[in-house]
Amino acid sequence: MSVQMDVRVLELPLRHAWTIARGTSTSKRNVIVELREAGVVARGEAAPNVRYGESAETVTEALGKLAPALEGDPWHFRVLSERVDAALPGNHAAKAALDIALHDLAGKRLGVPLYRMLGLDPANMPLTSFSIGIDDPATLARKVSEAEPYPVLKVKLGAKDVRETFGAVRAATSKPVRVDANEAWKPEEALAHIEWLAAQGVELVEQPLPAADVEGAKWLRQRSPLPLVADEALMMASDVPRLAEGYHGINVKLQKCGGIREALRIIETARACGLKVMIGCMVETGVGIAAAAHLGPLADWLDLDGNLLLSADPFQGHPVVDGRIRLGEGPGLGVEPRLRP
Ligand code: MG
Repeated sequence: MSVQMDVRVLELPLRHAWTIARGTSTSKRNVIVELREAGVVARGEAAPNVRYGESAETVTEALGKLAPALEGDPWHFRVLSERVDAALPGNHAAKAALDIALHDLAGKRLGVPLYRMLGLDPANMPLTSFSIGIDDPATLARKVSEAEPYPVLKVKLGAKDVRETFGAVRAATSKPVRVDANEAWKPEEALAHIEWLAAQGVELVEQPLPAADVEGAKWLRQRSPLPLVADEALMMASDVPRLAEGYHGINVKLQKCGGIREALRIIETARACGLKVMIGCMVETGVGIAAAAHLGPLADWLDLDGNLLLSADPFQGHPVVDGRIRLGEGPGLGVEPRLRP
């Protein structure tokens, strides 16, 4: 093999217990891949998602099976990424780690940041939202005050207590707020919630209905006063055309689709279908967040706060300045470990 691969599982405690419509977690186990070639160390990250049957163990096992697909000239990073994708079904988080690392490697060998390889202007970076999980009203008020540096918030809502939860946030701030229901609602109640949220100055609603409710999404889109964004309903570029009837925009995540190569296809397909684009993330370190941030200038909305939810990010990524990720001049992802192991 031309590149050498190392795999490391990271235990990442969260700053706060994280609750969304699907459940609660207090820490995350992600997998860091390092590719070494000619003295260059490149990194990618897998943030496994239980919704897709992934864990640090399934990712580690998949990476072992995918490693032979890296054989070849790493300058052909796109070809290698396609080969990785074809080598196994599913396992998108593992594939994302390799695709991100291949892009980091190419950028580092060229000595240019990833956004420059993609021809993007970092001055076009949208504001990123800061996410607030479901909690009791007093804790929500505290989280809103901790989120003071971030000019846009994203609030998670569940099946129950929608007005209490959102009301606690609204009572604590007049900032623009986005809402994510993570599939928790049914069509009629979703419309009632969204009409009420529109009156509360909400910007958009993410995944109000279960991903599989295609007819419900079409019904809701015709009536919703707020833009609806598909998250769980979107995995790959091939999903995008049928989502245009049920949503106004899509939330692209490298971990869902398998990396930068597929994320770019999704974004181009969404634009061709007249859809808005959000770039989002899982709970990830600065490695995964940086990979998504380099695509940021292509988005209408950004939700790249995954590393800010960690007790400590083991990587030195890009700072958020006045609500915008400021990409530096560092080559590739522009991210290095905080402490050398
Ligand atoms: Mg979401």
